Amino acid sequence: MPILGSHQSIAGGLHHAVEDAHRLGFDCVQMFSKNSNQWTAKPLEPEAAAVFQAKLKELNVTHPLIHDSYLINLASPKEELYQKSVNAFRDEVQRAAALAVPMLVMHPGSYTESTEEEGLKRIADALDEVFRHNETNEVMVLLETTAGQGTNLGAKFEHLREIMDRCHFAERLGVCFDTCHVFAAGYPLREKSEYAATMKAFDDVIGLKHLRAFHLNDSVKGQGSRVDRHAHLGHGTLGVEPFRHILNDQRFAKVPMYLETPKGTGEMDGVATDWDIINLQTLRGLLGELPS
Ligand SMILES: [Zn+2]
Ligand SMILES: [Zn+2]
Repeated sequence: MPILGSHQSIAGGLHHAVEDAHRLGFDCVQMFSKNSNQWTAKPLEPEAAAVFQAKLKELNVTHPLIHDSYLINLASPKEELYQKSVNAFRDEVQRAAALAVPMLVMHPGSYTESTEEEGLKRIADALDEVFRHNETNEVMVLLETTAGQGTNLGAKFEHLREIMDRCHFAERLGVCFDTCHVFAAGYPLREKSEYAATMKAFDDVIGLKHLRAFHLNDSVKGQGSRVDRHAHLGHGTLGVEPFRHILNDQRFAKVPMYLETPKGTGEMDGVATDWDIINLQTLRGLLGELPS
């Protein structure tokens, strides 16, 4: 059985994300560890971390994953933004460690007015600096595949490979595969043969053993559009087939998968239903089914 989760809000406290994931029927949960649109946050209270951990145990929610702040850009050629980003990312790793969360997912960054090559080097240097300051904890950082909007790095598997090669703490890096982003970046996923080819490319360039998490999102825009807009499963340009391929791929039976689809209320069998429940239902419906 795949390990299925969803990104949940931490409004009202980190443990609320765990409670909501459980209430909606998920096995695992992704969340921010603070407001994702602010640079700084109050230090974590040890009490809040204890309540969070206790809630995971009590409700049997596994594989907590923290997503980093959207403000951070470790590829920035601007010294001030770069340093601010390094400091903020160091704080993200420390918060994850304080919460006993084993993995932290991040967007590699945008090179803006520099070059792809400069940007990738910058990210690897930043990660080195962050890991040097965090040698005592074991938080693993997952580089997320991106759609390649603007000058975003991470749209090619080669980008992630290069960061891993340049970083001196490569054993602390993994990859998070976002279906919407990979498709928007240009990789095909719909037909079984296309999915197989994309996974082979991932394996050849990065190595499947480094694939530590999935983000399961349909895409509003088409293959190669380089536009990062998530859609409900089966309601975008991906359709449900890619999710059928992933869920029934035994290589990923132990890799946690998180929805990042829009929140709100949809309709299931004529009844107003939380979209998270509808998307989870869609996923469960694809399990064990052979493509027709
Ligand atoms: Zn992300
Ligand atoms: Zn994502």
